[in-house]
Amino acid sequence: MKLSSPVITPQEVSMSEKPEEFMQFARVNISDETIQEVVDCLKSGWITTGPRVKKFEERLQTYLECPHALSIASATAGLHLALVAMGIKPGDEVITTSFTFVATLNTIVQAGAKPVLVDVDRGTYNMDVSKIEAAITPKTKAIVPVHYAGAPVDLDPLYALAKKYNLRVLEDAAHAIGAEYKGKKIGSFGDVQVFSFHPNKNMTTGEGGCITTRDPDIVKQINIWKFHGIDRESWNRFAKGGSQLYDVVVPGFKFNMMDIQASLGIHQLASLDNFTEARTRLVGRYRELLGDWEQITLPASPEFDHRHAWDLFAITINPEKAEVTRDEFMSILKDDFNIGTGLHWQAPHLFSYYKETFGYKEGDFPNAEYIADRIVSLPLFPQMTDADQDRVVRAMKQIFKR
Ligand SMILES: *Cc1c(COP(=O)(O)O)cnc(C)c1O
Repeated sequence: MKLSSPVITPQEVSMSEKPEEFMQFARVNISDETIQEVVDCLKSGWITTGPRVKKFEERLQTYLECPHALSIASATAGLHLALVAMGIKPGDEVITTSFTFVATLNTIVQAGAKPVLVDVDRGTYNMDVSKIEAAITPKTKAIVPVHYAGAPVDLDPLYALAKKYNLRVLEDAAHAIGAEYKGKKIGSFGDVQVFSFHPNKNMTTGEGGCITTRDPDIVKQINIWKFHGIDRESWNRFAKGGSQLYDVVVPGFKFNMMDIQASLGIHQLASLDNFTEARTRLVGRYRELLGDWEQITLPASPEFDHRHAWDLFAITINPEKAEVTRDEFMSILKDDFNIGTGLHWQAPHLFSYYKETFGYKEGDFPNAEYIADRIVSLPLFPQMTDADQDRVVRAMKQIFKR
């Protein structure tokens, strides 16, 4: 829907809102202690994979209640690595959601497999687990669910299907550190999970991520593939008394995390539950302030017992009632109110590579397309104040003429 004139004139804006600093939709929260740890790391003389990575991995194991938490360069690297470690090969099919960041699909293609998509639920934006079985073929080797914004996918029926058809499960838990499914932490059960520590995620190492699993074979494969196909970690190789000789058993990647990154991660992880509490409180407040607006729809909560990690607060715009499209809403907020928003995400099957390579087209996944046309992530970060949030709500009131 196109508007003939802007919703708000610049004069109206300047009368109602003083020019204020730009509010990013996500903002990192880095303590002085964290900065000191990075400085200490730099001064220590050991800046790549070493003692701080080891310490961070131990803390992740404790936090995630998982015997193995393997640090990696990014969640994208982790998804690729995990698929390779699971033995996904050219000719295989991997089932995933039609509403995700494109990295979920790209890594399936990088592993040589075909991404087979299933549509999502319009309320939670998560994969509709009841649609998975119809997508399974003799070529299917794995299912890759995505916990959107940290809302867990319904894992019990998903794992039951995986068991029935002998499929691996790789949970894209990029947003889901701290999330719980029926009282259990994401990462503490199931097959393999990948978490992201990108600055827009719940906690950050700049770039980085981790893989959790309870399967020792997967751990072994990941450790080999992660670092050039070499059978040991580099810091062991150069440790006192260690031999300089090694063997290369596969043509591996270079997906290791640095100690500089782990310096951030150690302190971010210690603050994570506080961050999540702050996010959860702010989401509750957004719900109170925006709950009954017909111009928007707020995200639905999964119906089973869970803890949401609230990496994002993504609403959908109802263009019929709002008199603005999602794109117009985003640009007015930015241009007239100096407020940033995020778009998570465009429907990945409609990118030209996916259309041309796999024949996907408009109409294939109606719910994903419906959401992708309307969704917008409102500002949400742990240090957001009530005044910051009121500013966002005030701007939205003006845009929607409420
Ligand atoms: C951010 C994100 C990724 C990629 O994470 P990186 O650490 O940036 O590689 C993968 N999947 C989903 C669902 C994401 O949101």
